[in-house]
Amino acid sequence: MAFKPLFVRYACTLLSVFGGTIIAQQTPTLVVSLVVDQMRAEYLYRFEDQFTGGLQRLLKEGTVFRECHYSYVPTYTGPGHASIYTGTDPMHHGIIGNDWFDRTRDRMVYCVEDPDVTPIGSSNPASKRSPLLLQSTTWTDELEWATQKASKVFAFSLKDRGAILPAGHFADAAFWYDDQIEGFVTSSHYASELPSWLAAFNAEKPVARLMQGLQEPLGHGRFSGPDASLFEKRLMGMGPRVYPLDLAAVYAAGKGDAIRRVPQGNSLLFQVAKRAIEKEQLGRHAQTDVLALSFSTPDYIGHDVGTRGKEIEDVYLRFDLELGAFLAYLDAAVGKDNYLVTLTADHGAADNPGQMRAMGMADAQAWNDADFEASLKEALAPSFAIYPVRTVCNDQVYVLSEFQKPEVLEKIKTALLSHPAVAHVFTSATLSNSSQEEVSLRYNGANKFSGDVFFALKPGHLLYSQTGTTHGSGYSYDTHVPLLFYGKNVTSSQVYRTVKVKDIAPTMSHLLHIARPSASTGEPLKEVLKGKEKTSSKKKRR
Ligand SMILES: [Zn+2]
Repeated sequence: MAFKPLFVRYACTLLSVFGGTIIAQQTPTLVVSLVVDQMRAEYLYRFEDQFTGGLQRLLKEGTVFRECHYSYVPTYTGPGHASIYTGTDPMHHGIIGNDWFDRTRDRMVYCVEDPDVTPIGSSNPASKRSPLLLQSTTWTDELEWATQKASKVFAFSLKDRGAILPAGHFADAAFWYDDQIEGFVTSSHYASELPSWLAAFNAEKPVARLMQGLQEPLGHGRFSGPDASLFEKRLMGMGPRVYPLDLAAVYAAGKGDAIRRVPQGNSLLFQVAKRAIEKEQLGRHAQTDVLALSFSTPDYIGHDVGTRGKEIEDVYLRFDLELGAFLAYLDAAVGKDNYLVTLTADHGAADNPGQMRAMGMADAQAWNDADFEASLKEALAPSFAIYPVRTVCNDQVYVLSEFQKPEVLEKIKTALLSHPAVAHVFTSATLSNSSQEEVSLRYNGANKFSGDVFFALKPGHLLYSQTGTTHGSGYSYDTHVPLLFYGKNVTSSQVYRTVKVKDIAPTMSHLLHIARPSASTGEPLKEVLKGKEKTSSKKKRR
């Protein structure tokens, strides 16, 4: 594992025990940074009266930002995590999608791919991953630098990108779930072997132990549609998702992948997080440690069932209970007044368009990706002997290099606008010339690897299957996410002004007394820092 200069830790300890009196630390000994994949801000209101656990505690005792938004498109997991931790938009941190087309390599690249690292804990080539393509430092990086790596920084997620982008470049490790071994792995970017406690955790077969029994949904279902609705995907190729959920059957059908799609995926993450705290003694050092957890399961479930299913209510109520137990564990292990918790999401989600039509909104539709591109091809056919497009991804059209001319881009724009789902089209050259919201979202989300023509579908229209849902747009259903701070030096308040996700990292820099991430552009959130000011002025008077 990463080298830890011992003298730094001793120096901090000596400073904090001066003249026999322990001076209370102004910074927390542990930051628990939570990201819930695909959590819409609205879910807090929808389920608030049913929360009795950790979410209720954060909502009652923390600072709650009710209007936190992403400031770019596409609103996907990779860019979301990168923006939370770097405090800036994709145009600066470089993670412009989960995948994007790279003209110099003439292929799609994945946001955390790295052909030069080896998987650790697995031989799965899909685990050759690192933060290579992340162009900015993260607040977790700046903490590691400030303490000469004396801080312990660990990130866990079921998705590789959900662990790696929070961990940044300098962390002790990012650990992600590997379907083949049904446990957590890392890569040679972070370590040459798994810590023995994690190898032991994997060897206990935690997935097989969790995927047992029949499960009824939690909640009163007042806000959900009928179970096994027409708008839901089948679970692991089995029949419709109906309760009780037969976990052993789901596991038998989906093998290692199955746990991602049921609430037990969150339980697995809480279990490994507790093990990390215990074995690495997180939060019990003089300097600040970090545990970054990204819960991917709500995203897999949302993609399968949409935003209104009983499964959504169930997974958030279970998350609330498990978070409650986890915070109670932290109270005992780290001390109630020593830790800080943040919670946000990497993006929201659209409602299923078929379900919107059933509710009475006629202008909503899911469009098949391949059909969409076929209609673009057809619209361009009269003007071009060959199809001038290399690829279409992230709502962007990449034109063949010999066709990168303004008159061609205009023709593509006209062709796209002839599609009934398309609302707006912008060429890359015009992105910087407008302060219009629709344009600046795209400007913030693009760099030299982006496409030549950008299009926005109408709200309620998706390039996706008829069942389940997705995200990626600049509409509020995708950009609006929860943002909560709770714990050391944080006061209880509700904030309704609009803030941006990129404001989180600069706020962390002030809370932890460290440099801002290298490319950060966000503004620190004064409502969170208020509590810190109160504590320091009290100290001065003493
Ligand atoms: Zn997703």
